[in-house]
Amino acid sequence: MEVFANAKINLSLDVLGVREDGYHEVRMLMQSIGLADRITLDPIPSGIMLHTNRSYLPCDARNLAYRAAELFLKETNTSSGVKMNIIKKIPVSAGLAGGSTDAAAVLVGLNQLFGTKLSRRRLCELGGTLGSDIPFCILGGTALATGRGEQIHRLPPLPKVYLVLVKPPISISTPKIYTALDQQEIACHPDTDALIEKIKARDVSGLAQEMVNVLEPVCETFEPRISELREKLLSCGAIGARMSGSGPTVFGIFETYEQAARAADAFRGRGDEVIVTSTRR
Ligand code: ATP
Repeated sequence: MEVFANAKINLSLDVLGVREDGYHEVRMLMQSIGLADRITLDPIPSGIMLHTNRSYLPCDARNLAYRAAELFLKETNTSSGVKMNIIKKIPVSAGLAGGSTDAAAVLVGLNQLFGTKLSRRRLCELGGTLGSDIPFCILGGTALATGRGEQIHRLPPLPKVYLVLVKPPISISTPKIYTALDQQEIACHPDTDALIEKIKARDVSGLAQEMVNVLEPVCETFEPRISELREKLLSCGAIGARMSGSGPTVFGIFETYEQAARAADAFRGRGDEVIVTSTRR
């Protein structure tokens, strides 16, 4: 069986505070995108085997896809095992939920492969124990994520728009970004309710102009090129540009594929990963 694991971008990301359990209370507008890893799942008599096309990624329980398979087999008392092959297309440690979406696709795919009929709700509960972004990755589309990011409130789909993703060749761990955030005052919060109204009104250009990610100024202290990339996307015709998640990927929104493809050309050849994709329902 073959499944696709779609990446996400954050149309906005707000942090409301630190909870008693140590997690940050967030309010994020999440959007699935076309960029996806391809995963094949084959039943084997027992155990879990994992292979990926990125030699630096672990293939044991340090890999979220492996942990998702382990959890699924235990939850469903499945005695057989699974062999998984992940073809990664999503840049790693990029703020695009690469690991989370692989785990989500494994949960959904194994449920189909073994005919176990777990509900989406149960799959989301299981996924939420492995990572806060996994429930959104299971449901996909456009949504508001609250709590530590695991509570998903679906929103109407956005009209399809095209995206240029630019990922600088650095990786800053998500915990490091949140620790740095805790040591400073948040200067500008997104108006998430107003952004939701724009989504409901299908006003993509209003939405694009008012996107805010509170982690972006923090990430900029480690990688000053974030603002340079955002400005350049805007000067190449993007109707809005922001950093996704805890970075460092910056995305620009374009109304047509041709505009996005032309803009992407202006970013190539400088050591950044440059990807043209689109939003996905
Ligand atoms: P998020 O947007 O959810 O913060 P991310 O896109 O920033 O995630 P990932 O690509 O998920 O980051 O990688 C974060 C870490 O997770 C890396 O250090 C990587 O080694 C580890 N990891 C575990 N499993 C996977 C996987 N299947 N794909 C990618 N990274 C994985």
